[in-house]
Amino acid sequence: MPRVASTHRPQRKPKLGQHFLAGPEYASRIDEALGDISQHTVLEIGPGEGVLTSLLAKRARRLIAVEIDRVLAAQLRLKFGMARNVEVIEADILAVDIDSLFGPKPGLGRPGVEFKPAPTKVVGNLPYYITSDILLRLFEYSKYFESIVIMVQREVGDRIAAEPGSRDYGILSATAQLYARVEKLFVVPPEAFNPPPKVFSSVLRLTIERQQERLGVAGDGFIDFLRLSFGQKRKTLWNNLRAAYDPAILKQALAEAKVDPGARAETLSLEENAAIYRNLRSAQPNS
Ligand code: SAM
Repeated sequence: MPRVASTHRPQRKPKLGQHFLAGPEYASRIDEALGDISQHTVLEIGPGEGVLTSLLAKRARRLIAVEIDRVLAAQLRLKFGMARNVEVIEADILAVDIDSLFGPKPGLGRPGVEFKPAPTKVVGNLPYYITSDILLRLFEYSKYFESIVIMVQREVGDRIAAEPGSRDYGILSATAQLYARVEKLFVVPPEAFNPPPKVFSSVLRLTIERQQERLGVAGDGFIDFLRLSFGQKRKTLWNNLRAAYDPAILKQALAEAKVDPGARAETLSLEENAAIYRNLRSAQPNS
């Protein structure tokens, strides 16, 4: 019997987090969570077999789908070959050149006119093995994005959305909440996927609302500071920070921010972490 390309199912690659939505029910709910996309570009991460892609293609002004798997990318190109608003890119989302996709096009700008990116939303049932790396990358380029709707492992979703002082709050929560307002939307059971993963999943919406200006911590240094201050879980702020800062300066910075040196970073609000950072930066500008 001759093989028919459209019915050929490539071998699943568990290493690439290939758990595909088995039906349209949850894909529709993810699609709806994006709201109106009729005037938007949508970046889909990991379209896989294209269950969600088909829904997005009907509503988005422009859809860019980035899939690392060569066979899947080729099948998607065939499937959406007639859809003029869909572009399938075979690439690693962690390496794709985001500026060239969403930034100003060389030679097209007008002198003196500030570039305004096209309104863009991001969506993806993410490969779970690189969730944090993908999020960090999206935050790095958040100037291009209005919102991000993602499916992640449920425990990771709980961490992203956690409140300071709660068991799940950590560096991932602080970083996400520095860039976005986070909403947990719904939980998806393993049986919604083919093959089913071992874990539950949840869908989150992150509406980009950068806090850096408000907190007085613009620039790259604050994320590095958070990494240091969250350092080792269960260690006090003092113990995590003292390797990098002069003890007298650190003591004063904590006192001025009215933070107990015995506190742990997980119990502090972003405002408190920012106050410590600002005090340290003004006392030790090159830190
Ligand atoms: N969106 C599809 C769905 O819901 O049925 C597939 C989701 S599956 C959990 C994750 C997809 O991401 C797979 O198709 C996988 O090949 C792709 N993927 C894995 N790593 C990737 C990467 N670094 N860049 C782009 N796509 C990736």
